[in-house]
Amino acid sequence: MIAEVALPIPVRKLFSYRIPKELENKISAGQRVLIPFGNRKEKGYVVSINETTGQSYLKDISGVVDDIPIITTELLKLAEIISNNYVCSLGETLDSIFSVNINKTDTILPPEQMTFIPKHNKPGIFLLTNLPRKERMEMYINLLSESLKNGECILLVPEIFFITDFIKRLSDVFGNVVNIFHSGITPKQRYINWIDTLNNKMKITLGTRMALFMPFGKLKTIIIEDETDQSYKNQQKPMYNTIDAAMERSKLTGSVVILGSRIPSLESYYYYKTKKYRMIKNKYGSKDSFEKPEFNVKIIDLKETKTVFSNELKTEIEQRLAKNEISVIFLNRKGYVNVLFCPTCGTTRKCPECGISLVYHEKESLLKCRYCSFTEKFSEACPTCGSKNLRFLSSGIEKIEDEIKRVFPHLRVMRIDSSTLKTEKDIHQSVEEIASDRIDLLIGTQSLLQLEPKINSADKLDNPADIFRKITLLSILDVDTLLHLPDFRSAERAFQLVYKLSDILNKSDNPADKKSTILIQTRNSDHYIFNTLKKLDWKKFYNSELVHRKELGYPPFNRLINIVVHGRNKNNVLNEAQKMSGFLQETFKDRITILGPVEPYHIKLRSEYRQQILLKIDPGRTEEVGAKLGAYKPEHNARITFDVNPYELV
Ligand SMILES: [Zn+2]
Ligand SMILES: [Zn+2]
Repeated sequence: MIAEVALPIPVRKLFSYRIPKELENKISAGQRVLIPFGNRKEKGYVVSINETTGQSYLKDISGVVDDIPIITTELLKLAEIISNNYVCSLGETLDSIFSVNINKTDTILPPEQMTFIPKHNKPGIFLLTNLPRKERMEMYINLLSESLKNGECILLVPEIFFITDFIKRLSDVFGNVVNIFHSGITPKQRYINWIDTLNNKMKITLGTRMALFMPFGKLKTIIIEDETDQSYKNQQKPMYNTIDAAMERSKLTGSVVILGSRIPSLESYYYYKTKKYRMIKNKYGSKDSFEKPEFNVKIIDLKETKTVFSNELKTEIEQRLAKNEISVIFLNRKGYVNVLFCPTCGTTRKCPECGISLVYHEKESLLKCRYCSFTEKFSEACPTCGSKNLRFLSSGIEKIEDEIKRVFPHLRVMRIDSSTLKTEKDIHQSVEEIASDRIDLLIGTQSLLQLEPKINSADKLDNPADIFRKITLLSILDVDTLLHLPDFRSAERAFQLVYKLSDILNKSDNPADKKSTILIQTRNSDHYIFNTLKKLDWKKFYNSELVHRKELGYPPFNRLINIVVHGRNKNNVLNEAQKMSGFLQETFKDRITILGPVEPYHIKLRSEYRQQILLKIDPGRTEEVGAKLGAYKPEHNARITFDVNPYELV
């Protein structure tokens, strides 16, 4: 008997090994085995078993890692699809998805039932939107109860901190058929949970993106909470997108995928419009119509002032203070230190082809596009208004905190960012402090979103939930740092972020209460986003954004593939990038758009030099292009990483 084995190396082929007598009947597809490779022992994955092979001399399999196949037939197929779609070898894919996540323990029971793939597949993708997170979570429980009647479910959340809260609720409702799967538990525990699922002891897994691959035999529903979160993109090989991978799994298992979010991603909205996705009716019974959140939205143009806080913002904060209410100031965590911004007219210099901000290269005194090879000489004067006061697009939270203390010395301020919210305990403590009325102003980064679910489930605390009705002002201090990031999704992400953050605000049903306020500061209120943002009309914004995307050839109209050539030696990397570029020109001619090679944002990363080539291709040709890229062999001691549908170019 011969086993075809996938090895975790960047070679896109399978290796044949003989199954020795003593291991016959002990090895099947989906099992991890040890094999001799060169002069070392490697771990491999058995993909299939054949009677014979053409090769006369073969090495023997040395042993097994697990006594049973831990990967089901369906998951093997899924791994094969991911390996093709994301141009990564099957062995590397399997290793990344399975082996890294689970380590063996001694207690193993053989599975009671083989994998079951339904004959009549009816996969479908549904959107669940327009509800705050807390209400979405309750909707998920209803959906889970329904689908548990004839199958099993996976519920994915973007971050571990959502799991600790929600697992209690799920266990209360569904009992001991719920387990969790994420990087925060030990490999040993992950192995136990994996085997429990394989043995049909579980019906629901709650976890982060790695839980998508749980070995359920009768998977019926995959729920992805906050589909717009960037953590759903795997940043290591294979660089899969969890949503796309979930769709592939739904096709194999005939299960349903539900994408939940405050507002959908632009791409999901497009697929809804083009009838590829459907919408789930929410509790208001409305399918398509959506309730716009009842907030006052104020767009404040700081114009040419040097100030960080507009008079309007100061007044709003003072008013909150007088009424013993709480204000929140949001600051973007990331600043692009090398994008030049003109505070006088509120613009950045953009690439005429790609529509994204140009990046400043000080040494050469040049402005360069991150996507294509467009370059222009740096000039000290802003090309739009002539001002010579250009500064970098960034915001330091510590600096702003000092400024706040100077402007509002009497305010009790709490800072919320990744350095102050490290553990579950930190989060709890922060909420306690807010609850016990010791805070007037929260100033925070994206970490504020971690506080939101706690604040919204505050009734479980000893303190009265009334306190949380007091958060009535949200200010986006500097929306320009979001809008001008050199990324074609920057405006879309800014819009989604405002919605997500608004969940922290009081939404009182009492007509006597004043509506909460969202105050957004910019230096250019002429930017096209504000027309729709001031009405929180995401649909209108998405429709206009789709027109831009089509003009510039971005997703969903085109698929992007980012090719990164990397290696230790700079010249080798440059040479290989040229060779790759030549190969692409010759192979595809003008049938795809080839941008670059260019220097990526991080020219050097993990002590390797990098060059980037960005491809724009027709979505229908993904497979053809993927196959040709997969067959390409790099030289010059350089390596190549493919990022299909990149979320962010680093
Ligand atoms: Zn460009
Ligand atoms: Zn200007």
